[in-house]
Formats: sequence, structure tokens, C-alpha cells
Amino acid sequence: MDSASVDASRDAERMNTFLVHAGRGPQEPGQSLNPVIAPASTFHAGGQWNYARFGSPGAEQVEELIGGIEGGSALVFASGMAAASAVLDLIPAGGTIVIASGAYNGVTARARQLSDLGRLHVREVDSTKLSEVEHGCIGADVLWLESITNPMLHVPNLSRCIEIAHAHQVLTVVDNTLATPLNVQPLGMGADIVMHSITKSLAGHSDLLMGALVTTQSSLWERLLGIRTLAGATASAFDCYLASRGMRTFVLRFTRMQESARTLAGHLAGHAAIRAVHYPDMGSVVSIEMAGGVSAAEAVCKRTRLWIAATSLGGVESLAERRRQSPIESPTVPEDLVRLSVGIESVADLWADIQTVLDDLT
Ligand SMILES: *Cc1c(COP(=O)(O)O)cnc(C)c1O
Repeated sequence: MDSASVDASRDAERMNTFLVHAGRGPQEPGQSLNPVIAPASTFHAGGQWNYARFGSPGAEQVEELIGGIEGGSALVFASGMAAASAVLDLIPAGGTIVIASGAYNGVTARARQLSDLGRLHVREVDSTKLSEVEHGCIGADVLWLESITNPMLHVPNLSRCIEIAHAHQVLTVVDNTLATPLNVQPLGMGADIVMHSITKSLAGHSDLLMGALVTTQSSLWERLLGIRTLAGATASAFDCYLASRGMRTFVLRFTRMQESARTLAGHLAGHAAIRAVHYPDMGSVVSIEMAGGVSAAEAVCKRTRLWIAATSLGGVESLAERRRQSPIESPTVPEDLVRLSVGIESVADLWADIQTVLDDLT
């Protein structure tokens, strides 16, 4: 739990150096530069490690990396949803969670499942309307925010939302998956917990699932560790290796993806086949609404060659998805909205590929 020792946030260059050097093994002659993958459920008694559900060297390496760039102490989980579920487990029976509308649909759906069981109450608020946030927080236990919502890409006034929640003694959690600590540092704004789906741009290669919670409060960290240990959603040694390997290049990949996303958002906004472009001027995701409706949205996903038709975001490869094809997507998302996750390919190639299809549609 010593991961907060390096403050790598707010400075991409320092973050680069930190991510390359942290979470490695001992610097001794003959030792591997990279951490050794320890495929172990159990460890020789009497040492730092005991049974892998309680914690493992692989998990600790990823925790050092993510904790360092978010500015707190981290815990990693088997997926982003496992991390989110650990937060839901903090809520006392009959308690209330306030969720920003447009938050990740899995988090809202899981909270509703628990609500259907009578475990907790769910209130949805528009996090861009501070009066709704204020009203929602009255008597609530947890406020769940996203630094950028998805796929509508709204950006709330996070520091004001956090202030309002704290005035009502509401624990504030920020899912920082889309913005990343390169753009937004919620713990510095007073958030109690930052949540990540490491699956996305932090690991960045679409080859694993992992989640994280980061906090500066040691008592909260201990409670979350207790939940992780008993709920059992631990990450595997191999996935931890892949995640830390991916995170070494996070800043390079994400800076590039973000630059390309900004360029593409500009090009897309000027095209007649497109009715609306959503881009919050940060992040690697651009959402477009098509002038030609659902069939045009489907054409973009099917007829582009470089843009892979698949769900998810944040990987090195560019993806396109019509979100409403998923039955659990919110009905408030337009039917003809395509979410574009911009990868690291040549931005000229990406534009040429999608422009060909868009020209055909006009
Ligand atoms: C993907 C995602 C999650 C869920 O993470 P998994 O790793 O898929 O379980 C949560 N929040 C956001 C914003 C996401 O994009």
C-alpha cells in the first residue's frame, strides 16, 4: 500500500518516466528487468504473501502503477465491473446510491439488480445539472460520477458535484476510465474513490479485463480490500503482467489517440452525412449521429475497413459501434449514434477510410 509515494499526476512527462520504472522487480545483477509472473494460489507461509485472493505480487505491481498516476493507494480487481461491485458492497442495506444518468450501463444495471432484490435504492440524476445532484444527494450514501459520460460524452462540473456530495456526507466515486488521469485527477478534487476499467486505455491492447479502485483514505482502502478478499474478484497473475506491460506505454498511446480523436472530430463535423458530433475536447472517443439514420450508422460500422466493428474502447485499434444495437444501452441514446474509439493508426488513413463511406451516404 505504498503506491502513493510518487506523485506522477498532472504531468505527462513525469507520468511517462514513472510508468516505465515503477512496479518492477529488484534491480540486482542477473534479475529479469520485467516482473516475474508468479502463477500461484498460495505462497510459503511467514512471508509478505499468503493466499493470492488476499493479494499477490502481480496485483501489487499494477496497483503501484495505477495508484501512482491517480495519486492514491490502489486495489485491482478482475474487471472494471468487479471494482464497481466492491463500491456497491460498501452501501448499507436499504441505503441509496445516486448515479449520474449516462454512466456506464453495466454499473447502472448492476445497481438496479440489487435494487430489485431490495438491497439498496437507486436514484438517477443529470450530473450536468447541479440542482439535481444536490437534490439527489439528500439522505444518500454514495454518488457515482463519470468524468466523461459514455457514449454521449457529457462532462460534469466534477469539483462542484464533489463539494455538493460532501456537504451531504455522501461518499463520492468517479469513474475516470474515459478521461484518464492525463486529463482529470478526481482525487485532487476531493473525490473519495477513483474507479477505472483498466481493460480500456490503461492496458490498451484489448487483451484482458481488469478494474481498479484508488483512494487516499487508508480506512476506506482497508474496507475495500476486505470486500475484494471475500467477494473473490481477484485478477490473475498473467493478466496483471499484461496490464503492467500495457501501462508502460499508456501516455504515448493515449496522447496520440486523443490528438487523432480531436482531428477526426473536426473533419467529421464538416461532413454532410453527419447530423451531430460529440467530442468533449479530451479523450479518445468520438460519438457521431448520422443524418441518414440507423442504416447509415450500420453502414459506417460494416463498410469501413480499418474501423473494426466491435464494442469497447481505448485499445490500439480503432473500433466503431452503433450503441443501440445492444439491448442494455439506454433508450436516451439516439438509435443512429455510432461510437468511434480512436486507436493509434495513421489519422489520415482513419479519415480516408471513414470518409469514403460517408461520401457514399450523401
Ligand atoms: C468498460 C467500462 C466499465 C466496465 O469495465 P469492465 O472492465 O468491462 O468490467 C466501467 N466503466 C466504463 C466507463 C467503462 O468503459
